[in-house]
Amino acid sequence: MIELHDLTKRYGKTLAVDRLSFRVPQGVVTGFLGPNGAGKSTTMRMILDLDRPTGGRVTIDGKRYGQLSEPLKYIGALLEAKAVHPGRTARDHLLWLAQSNRIPERRVDEVLALVGLTPVARKRARGFSLGMGQRLGIASALLGDPEIVMFDEPVNGLDPEGILWIRTLMKRLATEGRTVFVSSHLMSEMAVTADHLVVIGRGRLLADMPMPEFIRRNARSAVRLRTPQPERLLDVLAGAGIRHEAGPGGSYEVVDGDLAELGELAAAHNLVLHELSPQQASLEEAFMQMTADSVEYHAGAGPGRDAAGAPGPWGADWKAGGARRPAAAQQQEEN
Ligand code: ADP
Ligand code: MG
Repeated sequence: MIELHDLTKRYGKTLAVDRLSFRVPQGVVTGFLGPNGAGKSTTMRMILDLDRPTGGRVTIDGKRYGQLSEPLKYIGALLEAKAVHPGRTARDHLLWLAQSNRIPERRVDEVLALVGLTPVARKRARGFSLGMGQRLGIASALLGDPEIVMFDEPVNGLDPEGILWIRTLMKRLATEGRTVFVSSHLMSEMAVTADHLVVIGRGRLLADMPMPEFIRRNARSAVRLRTPQPERLLDVLAGAGIRHEAGPGGSYEVVDGDLAELGELAAAHNLVLHELSPQQASLEEAFMQMTADSVEYHAGAGPGRDAAGAPGPWGADWKAGGARRPAAAQQQEEN
């Protein structure tokens, strides 16, 4: 298990990672999501002891990475910057890694087969495509058959086939009971990959919860109704004290409405329905909703935007821009 306690990293004036505390659960894929510059790679480098924290600590099974003997047997990682010697063959690269961790040679051939690099095992890495380089990085990560695997933006630059392959592999590794920790700046990718989400922005924790809970908390859900008798529908809703909004194509939507209740209400009034359907916003929309919430929060309460009035943790990449109210903080208030 990976555990972070108030992990902090400062580069000069930049606070890259700001008192991050969370645990990465076993047996599921945990998505580490945040926009570019949020601090994901820095956090991952600190997990591997490649960067020294300014404050706080991070442990793997209770120990610092540097204290693990034969660390590849505990944690395997694919980081952004690939450290493969271009003149080395894929097989030699893996053999060299295996030797330093007392991993038998046959495991090298096993992982080469696992990632589909057997046909090019004796080719020099210099001629590798991005996808092949990524596969070699993943082979290195899996070499020690570790309980924990960590991938930093593994799908960047890959074609759809490569993306699907990595996604399937990560799910399988989690099914085997391993801890899978994967970063991405793409919400859409996380939505189809991760079971659990850790969201950061400007180095700070914004959310740490199962994906369905994240969507439920942050995404709008509604019931959509379509009828050839709109006036009657509006009367019936008004009579029951149910508020509605205009939906697309002449439909009506009841935010947080109950499907069964609305169906029964329509039946009780002999109202013809052409549609009665649940609407659940996607993860992407959930993020936009989070941003919108934070705008309201500022207008009402004041705090939230940082002292300098800088854009929020999601930065200018994100639609509404303003600093949003972290889901983590919301959770605390509710508890
Ligand atoms: P992410 O991986 O989420 O895109 P990074 O961890 O790469 O984010 O970067 C977080 C912040 O730290 C950024 O502002 C980045 O410019 C800064 N940063 C990262 N590495 C260094 C470094 N070696 N020296 C100075 N600043 C750095
Ligand atoms: Mg990064």
